[in-house]
Amino acid sequence: MKFCRWRRRFSSSEGEIIMSSTRIPILCGGKWLESKTGRWGDVYNPSRGERIAHVPLCAASEVDMVVRAAHDALEEWSQTPVVARVQVLFKFRQKCLDRFEDLAKCCTREHGKTMIESRASVQRGIEVLEFACGIPSLIMGSTLADIARNVDSETTRHPVGVCVGITPFNFPVMVPLWMFPIAIACGNTFVLKPSERVPLSANMLGELLIDSGLPPGVFNIVHGDKPCVDALLTHPLVSAISFVGSTAIAQYVYETGARHGKRVQSAGGAKNHLIIAPDADLDQAAAAIGASAFGCAGERCMAGSVAVPVGAIAQPLVDRITKIARDMKTGPTDKGETVDMGPVITRQHQQRVAEYMEIAREEGATVAVDGREAPAAKSEGFFIGPSVIDRVAPPMRVAKEEIFGPVLSVLRVQSLDEALAVARDCPYGNGASIFTNSGWMARQFKMRFNAGMIGINIGVPAPMAWFPFTGWNKSFFGDLHIQGTEAVHFYTRQKTVMTRWFASTADAHHDPVWRQQKT
Ligand code: NAD
Repeated sequence: MKFCRWRRRFSSSEGEIIMSSTRIPILCGGKWLESKTGRWGDVYNPSRGERIAHVPLCAASEVDMVVRAAHDALEEWSQTPVVARVQVLFKFRQKCLDRFEDLAKCCTREHGKTMIESRASVQRGIEVLEFACGIPSLIMGSTLADIARNVDSETTRHPVGVCVGITPFNFPVMVPLWMFPIAIACGNTFVLKPSERVPLSANMLGELLIDSGLPPGVFNIVHGDKPCVDALLTHPLVSAISFVGSTAIAQYVYETGARHGKRVQSAGGAKNHLIIAPDADLDQAAAAIGASAFGCAGERCMAGSVAVPVGAIAQPLVDRITKIARDMKTGPTDKGETVDMGPVITRQHQQRVAEYMEIAREEGATVAVDGREAPAAKSEGFFIGPSVIDRVAPPMRVAKEEIFGPVLSVLRVQSLDEALAVARDCPYGNGASIFTNSGWMARQFKMRFNAGMIGINIGVPAPMAWFPFTGWNKSFFGDLHIQGTEAVHFYTRQKTVMTRWFASTADAHHDPVWRQQKT
């Protein structure tokens, strides 16, 4: 196994993360190693359409090596006092703040988000890290004295073991940070398998963790695709798996992991509806809907992808949203450009999103703004501009399928009941929002709607670090969600101890309370 000079590649003042055609290492037991795999993938800068690195697609033998390194570190780390564990996380937080701009640049370079979006996502991730720094009070147990005479009972929380995180391409810094800080703070060791399309940000987080003094083997990174994931899901030394990605894979990960005796939390895809009631403030609603649908080039599990305007407000709303879509500037994001929207992740994904324009036309919808006509779409990068598809009907594919690009479908309805029925038929259950000035309507929507994250006059109701990310239906498989106290419960298991106390004569003699009662 050859050692890599990974550290030096992070040190350029420009925030340049890695040289072109460099092979990305894995992190095993505190060492950066070059993979021996015969399979390598390409990592692109989607703003330029150029390859920037090679990612190893590790086989089961390397997965085994990395999991064993995590397992070897488990006993010592799990017995390290919690206050000492969080000291490492405090240092890691400071390192993330010191390198905030470089993390954001790395994210933009391999994913394509605008720098504003990358900074916001790094900030969201750091907030989870800050939550994890408070773990001593979050993993406190409970006690009940005198459950019988001189018998006390207590429940304490303990780590579950080696935990695995398998993450998607769309938030290269934030989604890994949803997972490992809490897992590590709880006393577990961790293996991260980032998306093979955005492996650089994950390695940068690994570098910062090592620099923070984390003991070798507590945090490890293995790169790869399906064979690598399969080896993690079935490895006997893995105790828990956190997954975020598309629904088909989320379900597969949940079922395979559970069948092999793992604890699994598995977040999947989405199709989020935005209902606009007749009494909504149209300017504010249109601005929020535009930001929701086109922000991060629509590559967000909480992106609004179907607008459902009710009654006569439909046309003025569509007029406003089409203007927003046409006015947005799409272009490269990696060299300090001031654009509103960056590229999508790959050439294949650009083509897949573009195909939905034809699919929509064939099914009888109206393509009001066609992102293929954006000037950037003709450049080398993987661009498609914001698109608005109007007069969509519920059975159409653009109404039902997750497109995961900057495409908003508009499904006009005549009544709120019809709007709710359309949205309720959706098999996913990540997010849904209503725009209204009616408190009663907002409350009815909040209480009755069949999705796990609800927005009221908010386009992207993604919960912050202190709350769980509560997707429902086909958007989540498992019991305990990612983030918040549910994550703390996911990464710990409880032990209940019952103790009977016998008083000896000697104890009684030294016990001032006992003496007082006797006199
Ligand atoms: P993806 O499902 O293709 O990949 C996610 C992870 O699974 C990656 O690490 C990938 O290597 C691995 N993987 C891919 N195919 C696999 C297979 N056949 N077997 C085993 N592992 C496999 O998802 P993506 O394209 O990277 O990310 C976009 C998806 O993630 C969207 O559907 C989006 O809605 C979803 N997402 C959901 C949330 C949420 O909180 N619910 C958050 C972010 C993204």
